[in-house]
Amino acid sequence: MLLRKAGRLIESAPKSDAHDRPRIGVLAIQGDFDAHAAALREVGAEAVLVRKPEELAGVDGLVIPGGESTTFLKFLERDGFLIVLQEFVRSKPTFGTCAGCILLAKEVAHPAQQSLGVLDVTVQRNAYGRQIDSVIETFETKLPGGPLEMVYIRAPRILKTGHDVKVLAEREGFPVLVEQGKILAATFHPELSADRRVHARFVGLVRTHATNHS
Ligand code: GLN
Repeated sequence: MLLRKAGRLIESAPKSDAHDRPRIGVLAIQGDFDAHAAALREVGAEAVLVRKPEELAGVDGLVIPGGESTTFLKFLERDGFLIVLQEFVRSKPTFGTCAGCILLAKEVAHPAQQSLGVLDVTVQRNAYGRQIDSVIETFETKLPGGPLEMVYIRAPRILKTGHDVKVLAEREGFPVLVEQGKILAATFHPELSADRRVHARFVGLVRTHATNHS
């Protein structure tokens, strides 16, 4: 009797419904994490802010926002956060924008710095100089639905991509939106535009990964 009751309780316990409404973390150390969380909710995900390494345990994917990659690194080096994050990005879908893209890259230049090393690209920090600290442009991409607005803020430039990296959009001949398996990265800030196609693409990656690994 008791056992049957326990069974029923377990069955009715909320399941992580990663296929329908994946739970996606947004690293909330600095940058526009709230805008990312809102964008993820708009495209059907549950968004949670992640401030401690243990909060990565319950999420199906993660967004690493823009900001200053050096500041991120300083924070992450405390309490072994960087090591836990490294494990996470190797096994779960992760989307990095701007500084987040720099953190995911295998190689960082100008100057060289430590990174999570899961995205096979070489990225140059602050590549556009002071004159164009920030700029809004619209380019064609490989995403369906026509040209996409892109907000660049002290953006990095992807100088080199490995064989497995799919280039989804370019600016002046350099990749600005790339995908490698379960990793998505943009050198611009899609969370600052109204167009949700990039976040929708990431939620799609998280759903596919959850389906293939359940
Ligand atoms: N310039 C920053 C860096 O090098 C990135 C800028 C951004 O995330 N908007 O880390």
